[in-house]
Amino acid sequence: MSRGCWPVLVALALGTVWASAWAAVPMADQAAYRSPEGLTLRARVQRISPPAPTVIRWRHGGEGLGGKVVRGVFPRPDGSSDDGDALQVGQWSAPLAVTSFVSDRFPPQLFLTVTGGSAGRVVDRRTRRREGYSRDVVFEFELAYQGRVVKRFTETGPDGGTVTIVIPAERLVGDVQPDSPEFLDGVCGVLQYATRRAEFLEQLPWAERPLPERYLVLSNVGGYGVGFGYGIRTTDQRVTWAELRSLRQLGVNGLRSPPEFLLELLRRGDPRMEPFRRGLLVRVMGFPVPVFRPGRPLDPEAGCPFGLGVAERTFRGVEESVEAVVDLPVDQVWGLTVDEIGTVVDRSPEGKGHLAACPRCAAGFRRWLAARGLKPADFKAADWSEVRPLDVWDPEGSRTWLDDPHAALLAYWTRAFNNHVTAMLFTPLRKRFGSMNEAKQRALEQGSTGPEAARPWVYSFALRGNTFLMKGHSLDFFDFYREADNAIVYETSNRDPRIWGWDSYLCDVQRVVGEVMGTARGIYIKPHRGAPIQRMLSAVSRGNTMIYWYTYGPDYKKGDSFSGHRDTLALVSKAAHLLGVAEDALYGAKWAAKAEVAVVKPETTQRWMNLAGNPPHLTAAWENAKWIYTALTHSHLPVDPLDETMLATEDLSRYKIIYVNGSHLRHDAAEALVRYVEQGGTLYTSGWGLTRDEANGPLDVLQPVLGLVRRDEPEMWYRVELYGASHLEPYDDPQRQLAPVPAEAAIVGIAPFNAAFRAVIGREALRPAPNAQVLAEFADGAPAAVRHRYGRGQAMTVGFFTGLEYSATVRRPDYDMRRDFDPGRRRFVTAPALALTQPVVDVSDPLVEGVLLETGGGQRAITLANWAYAVTAMRNNAQGRETPVVENVPAENLQITVRTNRPVRSVTSCMLQQTLEFAVREGSLTVRLPRLEEGDVLVIE
Ligand SMILES: [Zn+2]
Repeated sequence: MSRGCWPVLVALALGTVWASAWAAVPMADQAAYRSPEGLTLRARVQRISPPAPTVIRWRHGGEGLGGKVVRGVFPRPDGSSDDGDALQVGQWSAPLAVTSFVSDRFPPQLFLTVTGGSAGRVVDRRTRRREGYSRDVVFEFELAYQGRVVKRFTETGPDGGTVTIVIPAERLVGDVQPDSPEFLDGVCGVLQYATRRAEFLEQLPWAERPLPERYLVLSNVGGYGVGFGYGIRTTDQRVTWAELRSLRQLGVNGLRSPPEFLLELLRRGDPRMEPFRRGLLVRVMGFPVPVFRPGRPLDPEAGCPFGLGVAERTFRGVEESVEAVVDLPVDQVWGLTVDEIGTVVDRSPEGKGHLAACPRCAAGFRRWLAARGLKPADFKAADWSEVRPLDVWDPEGSRTWLDDPHAALLAYWTRAFNNHVTAMLFTPLRKRFGSMNEAKQRALEQGSTGPEAARPWVYSFALRGNTFLMKGHSLDFFDFYREADNAIVYETSNRDPRIWGWDSYLCDVQRVVGEVMGTARGIYIKPHRGAPIQRMLSAVSRGNTMIYWYTYGPDYKKGDSFSGHRDTLALVSKAAHLLGVAEDALYGAKWAAKAEVAVVKPETTQRWMNLAGNPPHLTAAWENAKWIYTALTHSHLPVDPLDETMLATEDLSRYKIIYVNGSHLRHDAAEALVRYVEQGGTLYTSGWGLTRDEANGPLDVLQPVLGLVRRDEPEMWYRVELYGASHLEPYDDPQRQLAPVPAEAAIVGIAPFNAAFRAVIGREALRPAPNAQVLAEFADGAPAAVRHRYGRGQAMTVGFFTGLEYSATVRRPDYDMRRDFDPGRRRFVTAPALALTQPVVDVSDPLVEGVLLETGGGQRAITLANWAYAVTAMRNNAQGRETPVVENVPAENLQITVRTNRPVRSVTSCMLQQTLEFAVREGSLTVRLPRLEEGDVLVIE
């Protein structure tokens, strides 16, 4: 429970303590809950149709819940528990110690699935429809504590002999014993459990507010099936209906792979399914290549993107995908191709080495290079026969490309080719879905009510990990969408609150990709990984129209789901109702002011980082670029992330400044930057930026622009870790120290870099040309920052990792983001931009991100996301390890200033549900917001 940040919820929880399964257990006590020692459980079948003696079995875990399935049998009264020993209808089993269900530590909540009767048999192999299973099965359970009966209850399986009950050991804290009402009240079947969850959500203070109707909000509701079988936890449709009540409170208006009976009701137009008609997520074609499996006969086309059967399999895959989506009774269908997609050649026996080993792929490589205008001579080869992909992924390889310029360019393009061969396999599907949408659009414009107009909008997407924000990826986040998919979708997963704001970076990538390539945008938000409100606001501020709360579960059906986390449920519900209130001002809205700052984290840097075996100066360069984004965001500067192709081909003149942070940059992109600066642009780089080209040769073309006469490799003091979604590393781990930080690391700058501090990562002592201006020095007098005027523009080079050094101050175990980020260090990133452009939404708090949006109808709104988190206490977790308690830190009395020339009648906070004080003068609107928790939307009339 957040201190002070949830006053309403705290009060609510206290008012209903133990009244529901959703009552709060004090977090401090939760770690110390006890096993239900002395408690026994017995079971009987009270009723079953047709009547017959049955074995009563129990199981838990596995089948999507994580871990292995643990199973057993309720013994006969004489104690025998042979699997064949059936109990008569009405006959009690012998009691079992509840602790005996679990061999290691008892889980906070045990979901015990109990089955009896007949499972029936599958009569339709395609739909897996069953018949002949027992129906109307009523199980009765009896709990006894130290031999005394303390509770009896029943759970019903109308559509088969499967029920699930809940044993909430997490309540066994303090004085609560297994016979205490506080504990016993929580022992129940999942029907009651699900109903209480719905009641909890329906009592939240914002529960009556509107919910989104135009955004597609997805989640899943599993666990129901008939008879018994894998993953079936209930045969009672009332359980699913209770969960749907909860899903509505989370704004869900579309489902992923719902149970067949819900699909059937959707098809029939049943009014109960009306709220879930906005969309569906279904599987569509995957890779049109066979998969290699060790131990199975080898298919020679396994994993090969140029296999002879690819065309035929693609044709069939596209046809089946169309068939799977075209008649679905919803507004839009999002078709998932490959979950957490990686390169296609991972499906071959050689893995990524396939490209180097396969003659078909080598031929494809040559054709592709030739189509890009490359010639054998570019690879220092006499003819194409010498040009072939290299095995650049072999960790034991000799890395010939580091010394051999011929191999260097081949290595680079092999990595690019890997992206291409994966993406190209989905071009036919993207085109087909695209033309279906065009046909629908035309039909609607012509006022048709025919079948084309009635069909859903259809989107194809591969689910992307957020690898752009992590260690990197083999599938580029820009180039991939030049060929594959008509929607860009990724999943959030970073766990460290200090970098949750990076999701805005990737959502900005989605926005730019969406605008340039016409793709729809969607996001899987994992609420239990934190910040669902901020992440949602970040996404909808950048044109995402599909949000998937990943994943509801429910918790007795699926592990790694959020439906069992009370505070998380409340936050998701809060997010959904905020979106509902603000929807008309947000849906379809675009940025009211275009970004005047561009950022580039060059793919070429990542490729060479990997090709060089991730040496410290290159991993530092890769991580550095992410914190450049953070620093710019903290100065409230909106940015467009671009890739090298965009640099080379787009009109850059609308950008006042372009930040390129990465050691390696493609030559054509570098030439575009030369022109950009000549014509008046400002170029910024740091952290050994812009030193090398795609062949790992010196990037000579840019050095005269930067005003540098020589580029030496930086001296490195710390081996920076590539961020891997979990904890952010400190910068004082002796194991990762490469050298003691020398006295020269002290930096002193002059305007606009007027700040002084001591760097910890490394430095490049810059070698400026005589006409360049030194703006900062290391303690030994070596230049640390250089400005150089070139043509009508200028370039700024900083000789250390400005982004990483900006992050260094928040890398402490007791961090407070609002306190720790240092404006002086930030200046080394943002001062050049602030001299040339201004924030669009300037907020008095650096950690609050504001975006000004405008709909086609001229409606304006500001989204506000509060990314400030702090460690507020330490506590022992369930394993007894001391862990920080991290909480979102609300902001009070925020002042928000917006550039605008338009008259303003009122400003309303959608979260506070009140109009706000504001003032308008000289082209700016200033608003005072009394309180901001996780996020808000201000609607400007
Ligand atoms: Zn091949």
